[in-house]
Amino acid sequence: MERIEQLKQVLSNRCPDLDLRANEPMSRYTSFRVGGPAALMALPKTIQEAAAAVETAAELGIEPFFMGNGSNLLVADEGVDRFLIRSTPGLCGCQAKGTTLLADSGISLARLAMTARDLGLTGLEFAHGIPGSLGGAVTMNAGAYGGEMAQVVREVTCLTKSGQVERVEEFDFGYRHSAFSDGSRMILGARLELEKGETESISARMAELAQQRQSKQPLEYPSAGSMFKRPAGHFAGALIQECGLKGFTVGGAQVSEKHAGFVINRGGATCGDILALVEQVKERVFAHTGVMLEMEVKVLR
Ligand SMILES: Cc1cc2nc3c(=O)[nH]c(=O)nc-3n(C[C@H](O)[C@H](O)[C@H](O)COP(=O)(O)OP(=O)(O)OC[C@H]3O[C@@H](n4cnc5c(N)ncnc54)[C@H](O)[C@@H]3O)c2cc1C
Repeated sequence: MERIEQLKQVLSNRCPDLDLRANEPMSRYTSFRVGGPAALMALPKTIQEAAAAVETAAELGIEPFFMGNGSNLLVADEGVDRFLIRSTPGLCGCQAKGTTLLADSGISLARLAMTARDLGLTGLEFAHGIPGSLGGAVTMNAGAYGGEMAQVVREVTCLTKSGQVERVEEFDFGYRHSAFSDGSRMILGARLELEKGETESISARMAELAQQRQSKQPLEYPSAGSMFKRPAGHFAGALIQECGLKGFTVGGAQVSEKHAGFVINRGGATCGDILALVEQVKERVFAHTGVMLEMEVKVLR
């Protein structure tokens, strides 16, 4: 805690305009609406502010945690003695040139997809309903309905551990994985290559996918989307349903009745409730089907 306090003082001297927040409840910043306070959070509005935050943390031997919209994140109830750098909503620019979009990491996927649609560019329709930021989506190689970030990302600009700007063209994209998954570099932005399309058909596809989400997913409750990765040859939700676990509840956490792949916060859920539920689901699914589920959602503790 003392080192974080020192970081706060050094950073606020070096970067007086940087938005620094101490002891922020993470339930405000995660789509699960769960989590205790983070010791310190920086919300940079420029690359310079982000670089100063990363560089100063490195000088003091503090490893930052980078986050976007918190839609794939679960934070411990007792809070975390960590320094968080959040790219949303400060880093949110987007420029277009022909079929190329150059966007900052904090821009929401919804806004990015709508920008592409308005420019008559196709390739981001799948991303419209994913409630994350570009940085989180690149890290996770987010995907849906046959699309994934790997199809459109051509270059990523990031900060190294010491705060140097680096351009990356090799991403090691896999299923919900990328070269950024180890958390050592902060994504600042990305160059996306799209294709020319018709605004009308892009809109229609986006509306069709939104309708599918609305009818199949429990969007009326806080969650982090699919709780588990898709096991090879199976669907997590189908396995969970097969084990009779739809509606299974621990405290305020519940396996959604609408979509068994989602764990929802029915109201007042703690991180402890959610993790206890996850463990029991994993045990029962393994005992019944022999498949070991793996969490997709990241846990910060
Ligand atoms: C209702 C709902 C539906 C969803 N549907 C889908 C879906 O269809 N497909 C899908 O793939 N996901 C889905 N998700 C999960 C989530 O939206 C995605 O994983 C999204 O890409 C996470 O982005 P984020 O900005 O919220 O990242 P966060 O949750 O903030 O972080 C996720 C990971 O990315 C890292 N990260 C974030 N920003 C940066 C950065 N700037 N630099 C370096 N690392 C960073 C974090 O350290 C963490 O490891 C859904 C979630 C919800 C709540």
